[in-house]
Amino acid sequence: MNTKQALKIYKKQIEKIKAYTLVLDTTSFDRLTIAPKDGSTYRNKMISIINGELFELQTDKEFVEAVLYLCSQDLGEVMNREIALAKKAMEDQLKFTKEEAMTFSMALMEGNDAWRKAKSASKYALFETQLLKLIDLSKQRAAKRDPKKKAYDLLLDDYEEGMNQKKYDEFFKLIKTELLPLIKKIDRKKNYIDNSFLYKYYPAEKQAIFMEKIMKYLNFDPSWGYMGLTEHPFTNGLSRNDVRVTTHYYEHDISAAIFSLVHECGHAFYEHQVDPKFDNYLYIKQMSSGIHESQSRFFENYLARRESFFALLYPELQKLFPENLKDVTLEQFVKAVNESHCSLIRTRADELTYPIHILIRYELEKDIFAGKADLKNLDKEWNKKYKKYLGVEVKKDSEGILQDVHWSDASFGYFPTYALGSAIGAQIFKKMSEDLDVDKLLSTGKFKVITDYLKKNIQKYAALYNYETILKMASGEDFNPRYYIDYLKEKYQKLYDID
Ligand code: ZN
Repeated sequence: MNTKQALKIYKKQIEKIKAYTLVLDTTSFDRLTIAPKDGSTYRNKMISIINGELFELQTDKEFVEAVLYLCSQDLGEVMNREIALAKKAMEDQLKFTKEEAMTFSMALMEGNDAWRKAKSASKYALFETQLLKLIDLSKQRAAKRDPKKKAYDLLLDDYEEGMNQKKYDEFFKLIKTELLPLIKKIDRKKNYIDNSFLYKYYPAEKQAIFMEKIMKYLNFDPSWGYMGLTEHPFTNGLSRNDVRVTTHYYEHDISAAIFSLVHECGHAFYEHQVDPKFDNYLYIKQMSSGIHESQSRFFENYLARRESFFALLYPELQKLFPENLKDVTLEQFVKAVNESHCSLIRTRADELTYPIHILIRYELEKDIFAGKADLKNLDKEWNKKYKKYLGVEVKKDSEGILQDVHWSDASFGYFPTYALGSAIGAQIFKKMSEDLDVDKLLSTGKFKVITDYLKKNIQKYAALYNYETILKMASGEDFNPRYYIDYLKEKYQKLYDID
């Protein structure tokens, strides 16, 4: 085999892999949004067959040989990285048989189906068996992939290259020591900020009209982006010019859909703004979760929770809901969407308490994979942590262990990337504020200048570099969680008039 032959084999095979992936991604979007639940048995079986075919493509003998050959060649920066990522993924896959791959994909779908049923009935017992099976499978798979490495370290690295428990422990220690005291102080000032008007009645049809206005403001364009509805909002980048986001309307909480839509649009722009030259690659387009969350949380918090973001949008919202908002000023509205208190639901938590929700999940996952958790009482362990850190009582499983989708498809190790992404976002925001007049751009509707900045400094690279390198290039410094801590402290001390 020579380089030319190997590259030809590689490129031909990844085109096929991408075709199968597109089919699976489209089916997955369909499954999570509009597909009737009674079709799931048939659907899951067919999807797992396609997954089996995909597995055969990924572990094809000739393809494996080509990757191994190319690993030893110097193919230039982009292709070297692509092949290194391909080799890593391939080595993992080769530890399993096709049947094992299919069984695992089936378990993920069954887990997700069970979770959905359990959540709507608010009964953990309906999900427990599936969850324990997924934990067990994930442990077995991790041991097979790398018996020398701790299972949870392996999973953390899957979602953010280079991360492990040691690094996260340090990061969360900082969050605990620096933020918990402030959170407690603010929680004692309950009702200091009036946000009751956010929870009046906001019919979904009218919320949808406002979502259109937000998408227009963000330049989330229907020529490449689509918004659907789902229980648990997500983004699915089928390709650079076919990016799907979802949101969920709560008729007694106007802020939920707004911030989840803006969050998902942050993911969507990242998928859309990757350098077009990477269209012919596979692995380089698979961005890590930490940096992905840095973009979504950047949109959601560092941009959308500012007064300037709503300067043009808020009058539109008032026009749509005069019965709820005509006497509420822009300043009051923005204060209300930044109100902080200890609560039960992660996705609806404010910026300050949010990382504590993540800390709780991180500690639980760590215990689960270290064999220290009481697996028979995971729901109770969950509730205990909420009581310990946030002082809140979980009364319904749907507001406790069942609230998040992640464990239902074995995404163990994903949660910490939300907090990491927030911290990366703070560092990017600091640099962006030095380079651009962010408030002026937001208040005059020049959102494109901001997305162009993100494209140029971060998004175009996709997975060409890891988050540490991209952040260093974008901000001129190594990752420093201090920016995140300082941002939150400054913002909330001011908001709550605390020294
Ligand atoms: Zn996200």
